[in-house]
Parts: sequence; structure tokens; C-alpha cells
Amino acid sequence: MLETFRGRLALLYIGIEFGILLFSALLIYVFLSRQVYQNMDEVLLSHAQAVIQDLEHNNSFYWFSILEAYQRQTGDSLELISANGTIQYASDKSIIDAGGNGVSHALGQAMNGSAATFISTESLLGKQNLRVLAMPIHAGHHIVATLLVAHKSSEIQAFFKLLYLIGGILGMISIVLSSWAGYMMAKRALRPIKIIQKTARKVAQGDLTQRLPNHAKERELQDLMEDLNSMFESLESSFKSQKRFTADASHELRMPLTILKGEMEVALRHPRSEEEYRFIFKQHLKTVSRMQYIVDDLLTLARSDAGMLELQQQTVDLSLLLQEVGQQHLILLSERHIHLEMEIQDDMEVMGDSSHLERVFFNLLGNTHKYAPEHSTVWLTAYVQKETVCITVRDEGPGIGLQHQALLFNRFYRVDDSRARKKGSAGLGLAICKHIVEVHQGHIDIESEEGKGASFIVTLPLSSGNPSHQARLQ
Ligand code: ADP
Repeated sequence: MLETFRGRLALLYIGIEFGILLFSALLIYVFLSRQVYQNMDEVLLSHAQAVIQDLEHNNSFYWFSILEAYQRQTGDSLELISANGTIQYASDKSIIDAGGNGVSHALGQAMNGSAATFISTESLLGKQNLRVLAMPIHAGHHIVATLLVAHKSSEIQAFFKLLYLIGGILGMISIVLSSWAGYMMAKRALRPIKIIQKTARKVAQGDLTQRLPNHAKERELQDLMEDLNSMFESLESSFKSQKRFTADASHELRMPLTILKGEMEVALRHPRSEEEYRFIFKQHLKTVSRMQYIVDDLLTLARSDAGMLELQQQTVDLSLLLQEVGQQHLILLSERHIHLEMEIQDDMEVMGDSSHLERVFFNLLGNTHKYAPEHSTVWLTAYVQKETVCITVRDEGPGIGLQHQALLFNRFYRVDDSRARKKGSAGLGLAICKHIVEVHQGHIDIESEEGKGASFIVTLPLSSGNPSHQARLQ
């Protein structure tokens, strides 16, 4: 029972309530007994005073009949002890014997002149408890005897017994009820936790579609369930994309491998001339290079996913970098009679890794080489805009439809699968570009319409180290 939260809560309720009950019983006893004794003492005193007055005004010859009359009238026990300690009158059995030390002490006090001494022979709830009053009887200035008046507290004891019995029964009922209520409340409050546990187990077993029904009334639980649901969602989506990525990657590598295997088998069927072998090897080299290119890209993405992409943080002269990348593509593009127009502002510096940044613009210009038509123009422009550098690579190619634009930066996404594949596209370049730009705190975007060319716009934050940039930034 102690192992569950419900059980512990119910036990806690029992403990607290038991403590409260015990404390209240104690308080009731203390206050009530004080009140009871006070009332009893007042009655005893008035009786004793009346008897003593009578005794003091009458000859000791009549004392016996006076004491008997009072005893009958009040029902109290009376005892008269002379100054030398002999019992001269005892209404029933001796109070001194019944009361023990307490009564002897009170007797002593009275003999010494104390006006009225009250004692109880036992606790108020004791079976034989007597409330005893000891008072001296004077003759002139001398104490001639002591009067003991005693009253049994048995009726009070019965009242207390009844009180504690009723209190005890009610207390027990309330303990049982409240611990049951505590148990049920805890059970109800923990119901959502059971649901969470069940769902988490199913998710752990591989069913990532499981979601928590969010109809908890408590805000804290609602928040927890929402957070868990979004965690399950992101788990599902990352698991799906991981699966897709693995499937796409193996598919992408399987194809060239199958081609390679087929070509080799055909080549080996009969002996060939050196010229033929040279031609075949050239073809194979192309296929292997393409596979190497894909594997390199996959490695880059895997490293960046694992946060292991090594990025140098240094000031990069972006103007120079773009000029160089542009120059390298001038020749490449001119092979397809594509004219490259460059407008690059001087002295633009950014913080980052030059080789990775170079890769971004190589990919973008490489795509124009693949998709721009012959005798068209490609523009590479770069200028400072507020606190960023804005670089645009624009071509007059087939463009990209709006429906593809949001997915274009996903891994292995190709607009026209077969056309792009023929051009050696695996669909990883733009995903790598996006990742590199984002780790440089930049953005990459596309503006395009089908049939009207495409513009890839990269924005990167300016490095604040360059004094001319600082002037611009102010
Ligand atoms: P890869 O690196 O294999 O070429 P990318 O990620 O760079 O792949 O490109 C993904 C797809 O985006 C390409 O297959 C192509 O369909 C489309 N694409 C990229 N650049 C252009 C462009 N300049 N014009 C038209 N389509 C493009």
C-alpha cells in the first residue's frame, strides 16, 4: 500500500485525522475536567461551610446527629477527624483509607490552618475517584477537628465515557470516510498519469502514432499532455524522415550500382579492344564519381545532423569568395553558351567558414549550369542590405512551381525526378545549402515561377569586425 501514491495519501489522511482526534480528546478532557471540578468544588465548599457552621455553633454532643442529617440530605461522604487524629465520625467507609496519601496531605493542610484544601484521589475518569475537601473546625482560636467532605465523580465518569464513545465512533467513521475519499481523489487525480503511462509504453514499443487525449481538467496536466503530444509528434516526424532518408539514400546508391554491375557484365562477355575498354572505364568512372558525390553529400548531412559539422569561425571576405566562385563558373557556363553577369559589392565580410560558404554558391551556380537553357544569362549579385549581405543567383531556366518551392530544400527532393536524375541530381545540394546558411545565422529563399527562371536568395549577417561595416551598421 505504501508503494503507491494513493495508498500513501490515504495513510497520511488516517494519520492526520487520528492526530487531530487525539488532540481534541485531550483538549476536551482538560477543559471539561477543569469545569467539572470547579462546579463540584463550589458545591462541596458550600456544603462543608454549612456543616462546619452548624458544628461550631453546637455542642459536640450533637455533632453526630448533625453530620448524619447532612449526609442524608446531600449524599456526600462525611468524616470528622479530631485534632489528635482519631476518626470521630465516618458516614461510610473511611475516606482516608480510600484516598491514601492525597487525603492525608489535605488533612495535614487543614490541621495547619489552611481554610479549604481540595484533592482528587484518582483521575477524573478513575473508577473510585473521589473529590475531597478538607476544612478545619475551630473552637475559639483553636482547631479542634477536621471535616472531610467527599463526592464521587462516577456520574461524570459515565458522561465522559459516553462522550468518548460517541466521539470515537464518529472519529472512526470520519477516518474511514476521509481516507476512502483521499484514496479515491488520488486515484482520480492519477488517472491521467495511467493514460500517459499506457501511451508512452505504446510509443516505446514503436507505435509512434499514439497521442494523449487531452481532456484533463487541471491546467498542469493539460500542459504536460500538450508537451508530451508535441514530443510524440516530433518523434514520429523525425522517425519518418529518418526512414525516408535511409530509403532514399539506398535507392539513390542502388541505381548506379546496378547500372555499373550490368555494364561490367556486358563488358566481360567477350574480349574487347583497348579503345573499347577505355571507353567503358570512362563510363564507369562517371558513375563512380556520381556515387562518390552522393556519398560525400550524405556524409555532410549525417555530420550536420549529429552536430559534428566542423565550422571554422573566421572573418570571410565574401566579395572575394563570390568573385572566385563566379570566375570558376564563367568557363563552365560558357561551355553551354551561358553568359554569367556578376555584380558584387566590394568589402563585404561575414563571420563563418569559407569552404562551407563556397560550397553553397558552388551548388547554386552548379544548378544554373544544369537547368539554365543555352544562350541564356545567369546573374550573380551581392550587396549589403541593412545589417546583412544579400546574394542572389538568378537564371532563365524552367523555374520551379509554387507547389514545389516549400519542399525544395528537403533531402532527395527533385522537381522533375527523371529529368533531374538525368542531369546527375540526387536532390541533396539544396538541403546542404540550407543547413550551411542556417548555421551561419542566415536564410535561403527561392523566388520563381514555372517557365520564368528561378532566383535563389541567400542572406547572411554582416561581420561587425570590419570598420566600414560598423559605419554601415550604425
Ligand atoms: P542536386 O544537388 O542533386 O542537384 P538540389 O538539391 O540542388 O539537388 O536540387 C533539387 C532539385 O531542385 C533539382 O532536382 C531540381 O529539380 C530543382 N532545382 C534546383 N535548382 C534549380 C534551378 N536553378 N532551376 C530549376 N530547378 C532547380
